[in-house]
Amino acid sequence: AKNGSVLSRAMSEQVANHPCYSQAGSHRFARMHLAVAPKCNMQCNYCNRKFDCSNESRPGVVSELLTPMQALHKAMYVAEQIPQLSVIGIAGPGDPLANPQKTLRTLELLRQNMPDMRLCLSTNGLALPEFIDELCDVGVDHVTITINTLDAYLAAEIYEWVAFEGQSYTGLSAGQLLIDQQLEGLRKLMERQVLVKVNSVLIPRINQHHLPELSRELHRQQVFLHNVMPLLAKPEYGTKFGLAHEPEPTAEQVESVRENCGEQMAQMTHCQQCRADAIGFLGEDRSQQFNLAQLPNLP
Ligand code: SF4
Ligand code: SF4
Repeated sequence: AKNGSVLSRAMSEQVANHPCYSQAGSHRFARMHLAVAPKCNMQCNYCNRKFDCSNESRPGVVSELLTPMQALHKAMYVAEQIPQLSVIGIAGPGDPLANPQKTLRTLELLRQNMPDMRLCLSTNGLALPEFIDELCDVGVDHVTITINTLDAYLAAEIYEWVAFEGQSYTGLSAGQLLIDQQLEGLRKLMERQVLVKVNSVLIPRINQHHLPELSRELHRQQVFLHNVMPLLAKPEYGTKFGLAHEPEPTAEQVESVRENCGEQMAQMTHCQQCRADAIGFLGEDRSQQFNLAQLPNLP
């Protein structure tokens, strides 16, 4: 990896056993997402709220929402059944940090009861600066931020509104606020040596030509990995917002943007755009096998 040479030993381990951060690790280690976070603090125009956060998820069946206690029990049961489980993440179905109590309580319970598990979180970044201390204290060492642009004009086309400290923002002010929060959160995470991956949804008409510039900035900020993900906007997904009928990128477009971004920044090419309750190795999803009703002895 491009960043390999600057990684400390502890960090190399941190990378090696996270299936998303290490392609080699993706065949040996499994991940699990716990769907404890239903609400979101903003509206992406490509989001499909009927399903999971399109941050990182294929439209499918709605994830079964869990309380923090149910999440812990499910995690302990899955760890017994899948001994290769190395990472537990919270990725939705809304934004984990728009549900801070549930998210932080779940992380705390996991940390207390499963001390060796790596904890991972995925967010749109809006509320990130506010929660850095809590996340680090509980031992989250991998964070994914979805950053689609660093240009407020482009952001205004991608986001419908942003809710922040009791106020609602739209247009350029929403875009700029989100970008500022994302970059501040990112800087703070880097200071605390958290491993950061950035996801960008490729929306060809809007950010195709901007993503390489974004990638250069991520490199300057020492982000570990950049993950360019194709927009999912097929009409049958039923997206209601502004980008509902937006053309999805072709495989060639995705490849060419990744190639341009990859000139400086390490690129993830094995992302599966998992559901907020995905379980198993990347590329497999055993979530249906672990529905609440199927788990023994739940409270
Ligand atoms: Fe939807 Fe965007 Fe919120 Fe994710 S961050 S749930 S895509 S609005
Ligand atoms: Fe890993 Fe991508 Fe799945 Fe997230 S969505 S768990 S980055 S493979």
